[in-house]
Amino acid sequence: MAEEEAPEQPQIDPEVLARRQAAIAHIRQFGDPILRTKARAVDHFDGALRDEIERMGRLMGDAIGVGLAAPQAGVSHRLLVYRTEPDSAVQALVNPEIEWSSRDKEWGEEGCLSLPGVHVEVERPVHVRVRALNADGDPLTVEASGFEARVIQHEVDHLDGVLILDRTTRDQRKEAVRSLRERERARDAAA
Ligand code: ZN
Repeated sequence: MAEEEAPEQPQIDPEVLARRQAAIAHIRQFGDPILRTKARAVDHFDGALRDEIERMGRLMGDAIGVGLAAPQAGVSHRLLVYRTEPDSAVQALVNPEIEWSSRDKEWGEEGCLSLPGVHVEVERPVHVRVRALNADGDPLTVEASGFEARVIQHEVDHLDGVLILDRTTRDQRKEAVRSLRERERARDAAA
């Protein structure tokens, strides 16, 4: 079960792929300090916030992702969007707090739009209850389980500067960092 980053789809339409590449070029990548910074609470609920949410939803959709946190879009805000069912509306959570998580945990494979090519096993609580605000600043509570709970926890981690590398096993982290460095070198060589 891939997380955030959709699995590779070889039969994918070239136009869709090109749009995905363009979106990923707008998403902050591993090594960018904003991904390691604790994001600031949102305190203005205005048109600018709605525009930001819309832009993030578009980026996530074009990148064929299931979740995106504002720091990945270059904004240090406690804001995330997600959509775990392809046909449902994009959900936005502003200033989310995980107020309860189950003792029951499970391991699952996760990827990240900021860590291209990396897929690692991460253990997370199966159920969570999240308190947040919507785009208008009204309080809302989300109870999520399984994949949806995993996506929300992954995105909330981004708001605290935490990446899946920090949550996997030591061996998988080593392997992932090596593959990221190789990609970096290949990119630098091509530039
Ligand atoms: Zn991520």
